[in-house]
Amino acid sequence: MYDYLIVGAGLFGATIAYRAKQQGKKVLVIDKRDHIAGNVYTEEIEGINVHKYGAHIFHTDYKDVWDFVNSFVEFNRYTNSPVARIGNEIYNMPFNMNTFTKIWDDVFTPEDAKKRIEEERQEMAGKEPQNLEEQAISLVGRSIYEKLIKGYTEKQWHRDCKDLPADIIKRLPVRFIFDNNYFNDRYQGIPIGGYTKLVEGMLGGIEVQLNTNFFSDVEGFKKKAKKIVYTGMIDEYFDFKLGHLEYRSLRFDTQILDEENHQGNAVVNYTGREVDYTRVIEHKHFESTEAPKTVITYEYPDDWDDPKKEAYYVINDEKNNKLADEYRALAEKEENVIFGGRLAEYKYYDMDDVIKKALETEI
Ligand code: FAD
Ligand code: UDP
Repeated sequence: MYDYLIVGAGLFGATIAYRAKQQGKKVLVIDKRDHIAGNVYTEEIEGINVHKYGAHIFHTDYKDVWDFVNSFVEFNRYTNSPVARIGNEIYNMPFNMNTFTKIWDDVFTPEDAKKRIEEERQEMAGKEPQNLEEQAISLVGRSIYEKLIKGYTEKQWHRDCKDLPADIIKRLPVRFIFDNNYFNDRYQGIPIGGYTKLVEGMLGGIEVQLNTNFFSDVEGFKKKAKKIVYTGMIDEYFDFKLGHLEYRSLRFDTQILDEENHQGNAVVNYTGREVDYTRVIEHKHFESTEAPKTVITYEYPDDWDDPKKEAYYVINDEKNNKLADEYRALAEKEENVIFGGRLAEYKYYDMDDVIKKALETEI
């Protein structure tokens, strides 16, 4: 008999597994995939650590989380500074003085930029933003919205910006200094050697069974352990009995190129409708890897319309949040089961949020 059966070897599951082992508990971790680390999994190709499920940059304001991850692996000083490409133009992200001076040819100072944005946001004067489009216009004005936000967002979410919650872009910084750092957090970096190494460290000495789906034998698994930690989709746990929550998926097209430096940056966002992908990732730049070849990944947004696809994003709009609340109420009544992580809580969590939650969950 195990003390804990942990469903999912991603960051939530691995953090709980580590803590339980520290307390002397007997733990079994299962995952339906053929590898550990969930969506932060990295795999070495051509000497380069490839982020198999999209670019992952660790950033946090939580010192305890930063110390925790650094206890397993050393982090480099990578700072995410993506560029956005639309047609034949390139802009710096997030929205900062480099972006403003390039988009408007009469803007040179922070004051010029503020004045210009103020003029453009007049169309929103006195109105509280009700959707993503209105939020974007009141944040940076219509020119930036149309070049850098509208196309990207509509590709990503497959919905008109007027039908999306404003919250989605509240996480993007707007700065009146020349600073391309995508995040405001105090700590940031990439684990040297890849995220898989981080999760291997967390799961050291713990029994892990891969290619094992919890739903292949729920009753059998429940008998194996005193407590279950579940990190999969919350609606699936309850056999979708209240209805289906919506998710977004992604399709990754990874290519090995016989060139040393393809795009000069780890992340290039494609914000226009002329191409279907949203980002191209050049993995070697995350760790400044010196390798003769390079590996790039095109990231295509995809509908989540087939259970065989991975559900990467939850959609925190009103309708889905309401249904998620109903599932959360059922989860609370479920004895000896802890629901945690992006899919089991139905929350758009970053890695540090997931680890913070797992460190603070009572086990
Ligand atoms: P997961 O990593 O999804 O782990 C859940 C695991 O459970 C999976 O391995 C799954 O196979 C397994 N599982 C599910 N159901 C079952 C079942 N029935 N039986 C057995 N196993 C099961 N965060 C950042 O902080 N910075 C970033 O730059 C960043 N970039 C991102 C980019 C993309 C494209 C995506 C999709 C996410 C990004 N994130 C980023 C978020 C980050 O990936 C998540 O916050 C984090 O990985 C969630 O961890 P988790 O343990 O909740 O879930
Ligand atoms: N976004 C955008 N243009 C960009 C990058 C992001 O409009 O070039 C918007 C888009 O709506 C996206 C949201 O900002 O869904 C959050 O972007 P982020 O890069 O933080 O998302 P993630 O890495 O989680 O996909």
